[in-house]
Amino acid sequence: MALYVQKYGGTSVGSLERIESVADRIDRWLASGHRVVVVVSAMAGETDRLIDMGGRLGAEGGGREMDMLMSAGEQVSIALLALALRARGHASRSYLGSQVAIRTDGSHMRARIVDMDTRHLSADLDKSVVPVIAGFQGVGPDGEITTLGRGGSDTTAVAVAYALKAHECQIFTDVDGVYTADPRIVSSARRLDAITIEEMQELSSLGSKVLAVRSVEFANKYKVPLRVLSSFVEDDSQNTGTLITHEETAMEQPLVSGVTYSKDEAKITFVGVPDTPGVASDILGPVGDAGIEVDMIVQNTALDGHTDFTFTVRRQDFSHVMRLVRDVRDRVGGREVVGDDDIVKLSVVGVGMRSHAGVATKMFDALAKEGINIQMVSTSEIKISVVIAERYLELGVRCVHSAFGLDQ
Ligand code: ADP
Ligand code: ASP
Ligand code: MG
Repeated sequence: MALYVQKYGGTSVGSLERIESVADRIDRWLASGHRVVVVVSAMAGETDRLIDMGGRLGAEGGGREMDMLMSAGEQVSIALLALALRARGHASRSYLGSQVAIRTDGSHMRARIVDMDTRHLSADLDKSVVPVIAGFQGVGPDGEITTLGRGGSDTTAVAVAYALKAHECQIFTDVDGVYTADPRIVSSARRLDAITIEEMQELSSLGSKVLAVRSVEFANKYKVPLRVLSSFVEDDSQNTGTLITHEETAMEQPLVSGVTYSKDEAKITFVGVPDTPGVASDILGPVGDAGIEVDMIVQNTALDGHTDFTFTVRRQDFSHVMRLVRDVRDRVGGREVVGDDDIVKLSVVGVGMRSHAGVATKMFDALAKEGINIQMVSTSEIKISVVIAERYLELGVRCVHSAFGLDQ
């Protein structure tokens, strides 16, 4: 008899029928003698709807109120699922993050979980009550309601699994596991039976939204057993999904395990900036001071004492950063500041790269064959990322996916 934390995402609880199907699944797991703690997201589209309404009335600077608003989505789905479980003869109790309590720091809309009280949950489990916990939310210092950033229910689930020492944290979603690429873009993508947590962390941080990056970081740090599986496959014996492994197998790893992309990118180039010491910090200092994260950076070799300095930021920060860099130009001189937010970052990830050269060349060749220009490159031990024009996104993902032999 093992304890499972099961998380159901938005599509999985997107209608009353879906909630009934989730309740039936939990019922089957309980019937086979397991104990289950459930974490749920808001019903599909609900968080977007709430954010949109808040935005219309002026979300800027209103993190506290936006958290109050966004956290309401999960309150609905936990109550509905708890009712559906009761209707199936299971005692069940729904919990808001604050009721558990899942304590976070005070940064609204991107709070981090600090610790968690397990008393209510343990007492429920002792009495065969099924706790249903609102994902994505917690309680900050002074009792303030906080949320964990988009996709944050995954993080709630991993944290609950860790706190309760669960046998496994199961992320039920609308695909039946982690694929070699987003199956909605690459129809020939393959489901992976297993993937190392390092690779999963890179895929998530480089844009794959199947697991929120913080949930993977958390699982990696605390060695939480994690699996992604489908909430739509009825036959549980066929629903093995993808296991996120904490050890690399002795078997030879493929060169590349997955391809991913991020549209949340924008590029700023400061053309003809004086090539003097300190100029990089002149440019990036104000950006950092504004709390804006910089991703890739490229500085060209200087010609005639001038150089071009290019970097990328998240798309939402684009216009703010353009203003900041133009201010720098007014102070230090330089030709012009040009920006481009029609770009995407395309990445390949694989622990097999550690022991094999030539991965970059293979990726560049594949893109070149399709006439796709590479604007920037960055590499680390197990990933290579390139910036390309957004209009080539789908073609780029597909051609790189097949170049590495990942097609079915
Ligand atoms: P949930 O609402 O259950 O949290 P998400 O929409 O956050 O679900 O994540 C699931 C989606 O992630 C899938 O529908 C799929 O389109 C997308 N996705 C992106 N990359 C991958 C990948 N490599 N493998 C599987 N799914 C992926
Ligand atoms: N409902 C939240 C969101 O849409 C959290 C989640 O789904 O994980 O981001
Ligand atoms: Mg998600």
